[in-house]
Amino acid sequence: MTDCIFCRIVSGEIPAKFVLETEKLVAFHDLNPAAPQHALVIPRRHIATLDDATDEDRDLLGELMLAGAEVARLLGCAEKGYRTVLNCNQDGGQSVYHIHLHVLGGRSLSWPPG
Ligand code: 5GP
Ligand code: ZN
Repeated sequence: MTDCIFCRIVSGEIPAKFVLETEKLVAFHDLNPAAPQHALVIPRRHIATLDDATDEDRDLLGELMLAGAEVARLLGCAEKGYRTVLNCNQDGGQSVYHIHLHVLGGRSLSWPPG
């Protein structure tokens, strides 16, 4: 059994509210939303951080970005606007070490992030 929370969501061991499921990716609502719309897109395959991704993951990461756009459309915030965020390692604010793309929308988002 893996101790990775997101691998356990992929396997169905931990429940989540799914937004999108494809062969290689799943997207689900964030448990503690930081915006009215907040979903996470993750690869089914475990990659710990963006820093661990390699050239072999090029297509997968492209799919991840496009799935983020699709999720924003499904959540109804694509037209007004949204933000995708990928936190990497400690200073980047990463808390779950299975690569994930945040999709945040439903309100005006400030910049720069904290
Ligand atoms: P990070 O801080 O690593 O960039 O983002 C991790 C995100 O995962 C956080 O926004 C947090 O709320 C979310 N999260 C952590 N555990 C769970 C969980 O068990 N289920 C869901 N749906 N989201 C989670
Ligand atoms: Zn994992």
